[in-house]
Amino acid sequence: MYESTRGNLYDQTASQAITLGMVPSGGLFVPSNFPDLNWQDLQGLTYRDVAKRVMMPYLTDFSEEALSKIVNVYSDGTFDGEDPAPLVSVGNFGVLELWHGPTAAFKDMALQVLPDLLKVSLKQFNRDEEVLILVATSGDTGKAALEGFKNRNGMHIVVFYPEGGVSPVQERQMTTTEGNNTHVVAVKGNFDQCQTAVKQVFASELLKAQLEKKKLIFSSANSINWGRLLPQIVYYYWAYLQAVKQGKIHSGSKMNVVVPTGNFGNLQAAYYAKRMGLPINRIICASNSNNVLTDFFATGVYQSQRSFYQTISPSMDILVSSNFERFLFEMSGRDAEKIQAWYNSSNQGSFAVDSMTLKACQDTVYAGWANEEETLETIARSYKTYQYVFDPHTAVAMKVYEDYRYETNDQTFSVIASTASPFKFSSNVIKGLAKERQESCRDEWQALDRLNQLTGWKVPQGLQGLENKAEKSVSSIKPEDISEFIQKKFA
Ligand SMILES: *Cc1c(COP(=O)(O)O)cnc(C)c1O
Repeated sequence: MYESTRGNLYDQTASQAITLGMVPSGGLFVPSNFPDLNWQDLQGLTYRDVAKRVMMPYLTDFSEEALSKIVNVYSDGTFDGEDPAPLVSVGNFGVLELWHGPTAAFKDMALQVLPDLLKVSLKQFNRDEEVLILVATSGDTGKAALEGFKNRNGMHIVVFYPEGGVSPVQERQMTTTEGNNTHVVAVKGNFDQCQTAVKQVFASELLKAQLEKKKLIFSSANSINWGRLLPQIVYYYWAYLQAVKQGKIHSGSKMNVVVPTGNFGNLQAAYYAKRMGLPINRIICASNSNNVLTDFFATGVYQSQRSFYQTISPSMDILVSSNFERFLFEMSGRDAEKIQAWYNSSNQGSFAVDSMTLKACQDTVYAGWANEEETLETIARSYKTYQYVFDPHTAVAMKVYEDYRYETNDQTFSVIASTASPFKFSSNVIKGLAKERQESCRDEWQALDRLNQLTGWKVPQGLQGLENKAEKSVSSIKPEDISEFIQKKFA
């Protein structure tokens, strides 16, 4: 069963948690208990079957048959290659490539299964309403959600992205999505403003009532939805199994994971894997110049009232990190009263935790950050040393991993979660690679080919021919008008 981080809702089934997305009166759904799952019992299984075994104990109201169908997406050709999440050996560490799905970012790992999880969840209650999915995106979630939900019966999706705050490829990926149930909206503001406005829409009783009359209910495809986090636990088990199989770690030894972090969903999934018994040593949280989390882990003060930087790793340009609430819930010993106090809206996103909670946080997670210059430099140096091309997000993780090794001398085998194909951010990757060549490539579409020429890496299928695809019309609105937009379009 599931409960709210804020102590205002208990005893909800997985179907209820997934359908609602977030707790209507504030708070996020978390599992009331963590099942133990021994990685040794998963040895020799395919990714699809590992996914089934990891997800099953959390979906007790799903039939085994339904779940089997859902996880088929990992073996039916939706992800390219035999293995949807290969662990690639680079130097003396591993890179877990999570970008072999249709949109070339790790969001596909979950967003290719969320629509089916939602479909089964709705059926569970015999609800005849249609679902309206609202998504705030810093770039990658939007496209992955559009791909997952397009042309789904009984489901509509609206994606809000910060105008000028996403890469040209990310923007074009979204605006060229097909499907009669997909909508894309540019918002004049940054991601945090998009996300806050969308959360307010979810909380609006008036709008909810109006939509209810049209037989429409809201849900979320952001990582506040438990259905997003659950499929992400799977690939940490998978990484461990691959590391053992490849002889990188002895059976039972621990591994570190390094996660480039924005909304803390990917990192929280790693933490849940650890709670289920996967031998994880440190979880390393890597941030870009929006280093609100690095500061938190140093001081215990979460201070989101600060300058916002637009960086070359836009999917991490986040100051209000949604899933951090789930992490603090665990670190505080599941103290919903404390969470309630910290996340009280009058705090405006800034609060200080007690020393016990801080200690628990620091024991679990090491946090660091990399600035723009360091990120570009890491792309260049990693290519030179390992002939491996990091996208700017994963390069941030790589830099923080190096700092961690230097600072702690921890020799534990480490896995870097690689969250995007470098081709999604080609011109900035070239800028990094070309430091010595003094080259820069302005046209984003030329840059894809140029990166292919420079490295010999293949342009992912989903990014080919983007510049010539027909774009859908995109409205451009202010954050405060999101509610009205939804009302006009759907209510
Ligand atoms: C979404 C995203 C992140 C951040 O992941 P969170 O789960 O939000 O912490 C990092 N890198 C890329 C490429 C992303 O798309």
